[in-house]
Amino acid sequence: MKVRRSFAPLIITLLLAFQAGSAPPWQKEEREERIAGFTLKSSRKETSIEARLASIPQPAMCQRFLLYLTEEPHIAGTERNYQLATYVRDKFKEFGLDEVSLVEYQVLLSYPKEIVIEMVEPKPYRATLREEGYFRDKDSYDSRVSLGFNAYSASGEVTAPLVYAHGGNPEDYDKLLEMGIDIKGKIAIVRYSMPYSYRGFKALTAQQRGAAGLLIYSDPADDGYMRGEVYPFGPWGPESHIQRGAIVYDFLIPGDPLTPGWASTKGARRIKPEESETLPKIISVPLSYQDARPLLENLAGTVAPAGWQGGLPFSYHTGPGPAKVHLKVEMDNKTRSIWNVIGRIKGNLFPEQTVILGNHRDAWVYGAVDPSSGTVSLLELARALGKLLQEGVRPQRSIILANWDAEEFTLTGSTEWGEEMVGELKRVAVAYLNVDSACSGSQFGASAVPSLKHLLPAIAKEVIDPNTGRTVYEVWKERVEKQGGESMVNTQLGSGSDYTVFLNFIGMPIVDMGFTGPYGVYHSQYDNFYWMSHFGDPNFRYMPTMSVIWGMAALRLANAEILPLDYASYGEEIAHYIKELSDEGKRMGKKTNLQHLQKGVERFISVARRMNTKVEEMLVSGVPPPGEKVNLINHCLMKVERNFTHREGIPGRPWYKHLIYAPRFTYAPEVLPGITEALREGDEARVRRQVELLAEALQRATITLEGVLEQLP
Ligand SMILES: [Zn+2]
Repeated sequence: MKVRRSFAPLIITLLLAFQAGSAPPWQKEEREERIAGFTLKSSRKETSIEARLASIPQPAMCQRFLLYLTEEPHIAGTERNYQLATYVRDKFKEFGLDEVSLVEYQVLLSYPKEIVIEMVEPKPYRATLREEGYFRDKDSYDSRVSLGFNAYSASGEVTAPLVYAHGGNPEDYDKLLEMGIDIKGKIAIVRYSMPYSYRGFKALTAQQRGAAGLLIYSDPADDGYMRGEVYPFGPWGPESHIQRGAIVYDFLIPGDPLTPGWASTKGARRIKPEESETLPKIISVPLSYQDARPLLENLAGTVAPAGWQGGLPFSYHTGPGPAKVHLKVEMDNKTRSIWNVIGRIKGNLFPEQTVILGNHRDAWVYGAVDPSSGTVSLLELARALGKLLQEGVRPQRSIILANWDAEEFTLTGSTEWGEEMVGELKRVAVAYLNVDSACSGSQFGASAVPSLKHLLPAIAKEVIDPNTGRTVYEVWKERVEKQGGESMVNTQLGSGSDYTVFLNFIGMPIVDMGFTGPYGVYHSQYDNFYWMSHFGDPNFRYMPTMSVIWGMAALRLANAEILPLDYASYGEEIAHYIKELSDEGKRMGKKTNLQHLQKGVERFISVARRMNTKVEEMLVSGVPPPGEKVNLINHCLMKVERNFTHREGIPGRPWYKHLIYAPRFTYAPEVLPGITEALREGDEARVRRQVELLAEALQRATITLEGVLEQLP
C-alpha cells in the first residue's frame, strides 16, 4: 500500500481547527511538519512508523482471508462462527499480539424454525423465502443458507387481509387513516426504504398501530433493477434477494435482551423473555420482490399515494385485500454461546491507556461486505502491527483489537463486553475506532465525535486511493462537495454498529468508517465472495487501504504526546445544537430558557481554546513536559467525553447515558436527546431537569479541561 510522503497541507488544516488562524508567523515553518498531538521530532518518528505500517498490508493476503471467512454461512451462535473465532484468535497469536483471548457470553439468539407465508385469496401463492442460485457462483447453491427471517420476530399464526403501507413509518399509517384505512388486525406489507431506516422501528410502529403481522420487502426501486444492473451482472439486488435482519428494539437497550444493562456471563442473572422491553410482540418476515410481487399485484382499493409507487411494473394499490395472507412464524429462541476475540498490544510508556479497534465477525449468511471485509482489514492490520512489534516498534499506549460476535442480532458481543468492562474502560480507554463493513465500493466515509473529526481527513491526505491514484482525501472531499455536504466527517451519531456501547454507555470518543459503493445485496446470500470479487473490491485493494487508515488512526492516538482530542470543536458543535434547539422551541411557541446552557458551553469553548493554544505552543516548542505531567494531562483529556454522560441516562432509556448523542428509534442521530425529547413532548419540568443535567455535564467537562491547563507550562 502506498502512502504519500509529502505532508505539508495536512498540518495547516489541523492548526486552523485548533487555533482559528491566529498562528504567529514565526511558528509557521515548523508547524507545517507536525502531526496533531506530536512535537516535530516525534512527528518525524511517527511518520516513519506509519510509512512502514502502510507498506505491509497486501491485496493477496486480504483475498486469502476473505475467501476463508466467507467459505460458509456464519451466523452468530453457530459452530462455524465459533471456528472463525478460533481462526481469528490463532491469527492474532501467529502475528505476535501480546495477549489474545476468546471471551464467551451466553445470550438469547433467535433463529427460524418454521416460516409460512401464503396468499389464500384471491388466488393461492406460497412464498418461497429462498434465494435462487446462479451457476457461476457455488455459494448461491449452498443448502445451509438460512430462510429469509427477522430475528426476534414473535412466534404465532394469523390470517388477515393485506395492506400496503409504504415505508411502515408513523406518517405512512397516518396517511392510510386519512384515506380511511386502519391497519388494526391486518397484515402490513412495507418497503425497506433507502435511505436506511432501522427495520426494528418498522416493527415497533406496526405493533403500536395494532397490525396483525408485518412483511418487509425489498422494492426494486430501492435496491434492485431501478438502481442499476443486478447480480450476477451488477451490484444491485436480484429478484429473489432477501434482506434478513433483527427487529429487536435495541434503540431502547442494545445487547442481550435478557440481561439489559449487565453482562451475559455464565451464570449471570437473566430476566424472563416476557419481561424484556426490547423483544417485539409482532410477527415479522422479510421478503424478496419476487415473493412480494404476487401479493402487491393482488391489492385493490385506492391507488397508492404519490411517492408510494415502487419499481414493480404495475400500479401499486393500498388494499385492504382482496389479497388475504396466512402468516405462520415459529422461532427457535434460545440462550446460546457467542465469542468475542480480544487481542492486546501492550504499550511501552503508558500501558494502562488503551486505544480500542473493533469489527464484528458474525454475518447473516456469508457476509463478504458485512462484516467480513472489515474482519479482513482487522486481520491484515493485526499482521502489520505484529510485524512492527517484531521490528522493535511498540506503541506507547496499548492497542486492543476486538472481533465482536452477534452484532447482527442486537450489537450483542460488543455491548456485553462493554457492560462487563465499563469500570476499567472508564479509567483507561482513549477512544474506540469501529469498522463494520470495510468496503462495498470505493467511496470513503466517516463519522466521529467532534473531538476526533480532524483525525481521518488528516490521515486520508497521506493515503493513496487505489482506483484514482489521488489521495483518499481529495476523492472524498470532491464527492462530499458534489453532494453539497457541509463537512467531510459526520459528527451526528446515531446507532447501527458496535460503537454504540462505547459512546452511549461508557462515554468514549468514537470513530466509525468504511468505503461504500453501489450495494443492493445487503444481508442477502449474494453478499458473498463472488459479489466482492466482481463488484465491491475486485482487486482487493480497498480492504488493505482500510487496514492502513485504521492502523494510522490507532498509532496516532497511541503515540501522540498529547492526545489529539479537540474540545473547542466539540464545544462549538454543542453550541450549534443548543442554538438549533432554542430556535425549534421558539418555532413551537415554547418558553425554553437555554441561556444558562449557552453560557456554560461558551465557558467550555473558551477554556478548550486556551488549552488548545497552550498545547500547540508547547508542542511547537518541541519540549513537552516530563512524562509524569503528560500522563496527567492525557488522563484529564480522556475524562472529558465521560463527563458528557450521566448515570440516570435519557428519560425512558436509562441505558443511553450520553447527554449529547443518542439514536432515534430509526437509528438516525438525535442531538441533546434528553432536552429534545422533553421539548417535543411539551414536558416543561423535564426540559428544565435535562437542561440542568447538561449544564452540570458542561461544568464538569470545563473543570476537567482546567485541570489540563493547570498542568501545562
Ligand atoms: Zn455489520
